Amino acid sequence: MSPNHKLKVDLVIPVYNEAVIVGQTHAHVRDVVDSLPYDFQFIYVDDGSSDGTVAALRKIAEGDPRISVLQLSRNFGHQAALTAGLDAALGEIVITMDGDGQHPPELILQMIDLIRNGYDIVQTQRMDDGGSISFKKWSSNLFYRLINVVSGTQVLRGAADFRALSRAALDGLRSMREYHRFLRGMISWMGYSSVILPYQEPARVGGESKYSLGKMFRLASDAVFSFSLAPLYIGLSTGLGFLVLAAAQMIYVAALWLTGQTERIVAGWSSLMAIMLIASGIIMILLGFIGVYVGYIFQEVKRRPIYLIKGAKPKDGE
Ligand code: UDP
Ligand code: MG
Repeated sequence: MSPNHKLKVDLVIPVYNEAVIVGQTHAHVRDVVDSLPYDFQFIYVDDGSSDGTVAALRKIAEGDPRISVLQLSRNFGHQAALTAGLDAALGEIVITMDGDGQHPPELILQMIDLIRNGYDIVQTQRMDDGGSISFKKWSSNLFYRLINVVSGTQVLRGAADFRALSRAALDGLRSMREYHRFLRGMISWMGYSSVILPYQEPARVGGESKYSLGKMFRLASDAVFSFSLAPLYIGLSTGLGFLVLAAAQMIYVAALWLTGQTERIVAGWSSLMAIMLIASGIIMILLGFIGVYVGYIFQEVKRRPIYLIKGAKPKDGE
């Protein structure tokens, strides 16, 4: 490559009904990156907006060959829109960010520097602004606590979908084609060397959050059920619990017999109780076994790669 080759950086920005603010966000991001010595490409993904977002994006893209607009056929959701943009990225570094101005572009320089210094993933973390507890904050805290308890993959609290990936990490992520996607978990599952960059989140520059309650629930359920088989083991552990109860009951009855206190046992209670506890225990355990098989099938059909390879890092001047 020529000595004055500039590092190629893709910015992937999914937008859904952001017509009122996308122009403003773009102008901000553009002003920041224009002062940096890299070759930036903007990949805007319109996630099936029904307001004038597409027209606004086309207007932004007019006369600027660095900007491309990908239009999804309907609203597929933030994670799918991000995936579409990542699939289209050709650069050596790719940065994903929101189109609502909540991800400060001022961090981009630092993110690129960290990747050039050898990290594969730069994950930003939204810091608590110390302000009042909103429903969003409360539910998000609960969510991270839950996901970290039930899943084997640790997800950083407050991790935003604002991050930089090296080509190697991007290729790794692109090889994971599962349908129910929770990118924060998938990226954490991948490994690679990563670094956390904290930031204070500014308020939205306009419009309102596109994460409706329904969408938040769907994301939470994708996160829990795609990353954890814990719910499937509930049957198994309940069944074992029932068998323990059956054993305790039988010991109790035997103890009464041995100590000659048979008059304290209601006729028929022991046998009925034993049969009920043992039968429920066995049914639950069998359900648990089926659950475990379902879980294994679930993991297989995701067709995740068995391993990922840490690739070559982009070097300056290459
Ligand atoms: N978004 C999207 N599809 C959706 C919902 C949201 O592409 O179905 C985009 C949205 O336009 C924004 C980003 O994803 O650029 C984050 O959404 P939002 O700001 O509404 O989420 P919040 O910051 O409230 O968590
Ligand atoms: Mg936002």
